[in-house]
Amino acid sequence: MRTRLIVTAPVVAILAGLLAMTAPASAQRITIRAGTVLDGKGGVQRNAVIAIEGSRIVKVGDGATETATYDFPRFTVLPGMIDAHVHIGAHFGKDGRASTPGETPAEAALYGAENAYAMLMAGFTTVQSIGAPNDVPLRDAIASGRLPGPRLLTAVTPLTDTSLTLDQVRAHVRKAVADGADVIKIFASKSIRDGGGQTLSDAQIKAACDEAKALGKRVWVHAHAASAVRAAALAGCTTVTHGSQITDAEADLMAAHGTYFEPQTGLLLQNYIENKARYMGIGNYNEAGFKFMEDGIPLNDAMFKMAIRHHDLKITMGTDAVAGAHGRNANEIVHRVQVGGQGAMDAIVAATSLNAEALGLQGTIGTLASGMEADLIAVDGDPLSDIAALQRVVFVMKGGQVYRNVAGR
Ligand SMILES: [Zn+2]
Repeated sequence: MRTRLIVTAPVVAILAGLLAMTAPASAQRITIRAGTVLDGKGGVQRNAVIAIEGSRIVKVGDGATETATYDFPRFTVLPGMIDAHVHIGAHFGKDGRASTPGETPAEAALYGAENAYAMLMAGFTTVQSIGAPNDVPLRDAIASGRLPGPRLLTAVTPLTDTSLTLDQVRAHVRKAVADGADVIKIFASKSIRDGGGQTLSDAQIKAACDEAKALGKRVWVHAHAASAVRAAALAGCTTVTHGSQITDAEADLMAAHGTYFEPQTGLLLQNYIENKARYMGIGNYNEAGFKFMEDGIPLNDAMFKMAIRHHDLKITMGTDAVAGAHGRNANEIVHRVQVGGQGAMDAIVAATSLNAEALGLQGTIGTLASGMEADLIAVDGDPLSDIAALQRVVFVMKGGQVYRNVAGR
């Protein structure tokens, strides 16, 4: 009897999860009318309606005559935002510090769930965590419908060890994939707090990206130094993240190789500085490290202004959110427009359809169109004229399910 109970309990849980997920499919058609609809690819429609059946969008079009389930004349509806670079488990511990002595695995798991919820409520319906082993059960709990959170992808175990042989680099990639990785993360340069110099050799970078490609996986390459960025682009790696020390030459090279570029300008360093006391004294969070970060903000702004002049460079949106930053992910988009001078539509496309493409999910999310998953949000105002509207999320739907609706306030 005991054995039978143990076997059936997970089955019941899985069935319950499936029922919860499929229930709306047989239920009813939901319609959302909005004053403005942004399709995520640069298209704008006024007074449009979006119809949803089950988890999918079945129509986007003129909504003048339809009775809408949700009527948002003052609001803008757009695809759920995507953050291609977060650390979903990163949090401040019980003592308020960014280290977590004495924390139990159960406590750590709850912090991950809290961060997931904060990002979903902030309008992020997909995030890629770069990454930790704890991400895997969190990803699966969210995917099964047991826990509210964004669709989650993870790198599970980043590659940091510069002493590995090329065979060992390939073995690391294979192990990460076997452990459930959706994406491979490699550290090809030092942290910006240590100056950002290249660490992995060009050959190690190429070995990792070749092996991942052979397994059908994408690679996110942490690289500050221009040399590391060059190696990543030449090796055919998917995305360079950070890139704080690039010049026009590296921007051109990434554009020529189709490398996605994910700079951070508006949240990462600001968050560290706002929370300096919580980080100070842990690892390379020392006065020298903070000096690199304080100096880094204007340098990153200048780099970003240079990068957006390269119109053929695919600039994606990943915040690198760590403890203190989850739920404030849209700060990066707002900063890119208000300080970096990027066009609002370009910044929105980066966080929706372009990010979906970088994640290999362009057929599923990132665009409002018939057949796509119904991941969409409503924001108070028009982000094309006031990008900060992205920080006023009033409605969140993921896979046809409404997770937030404060539109009636
Ligand atoms: Zn990161």
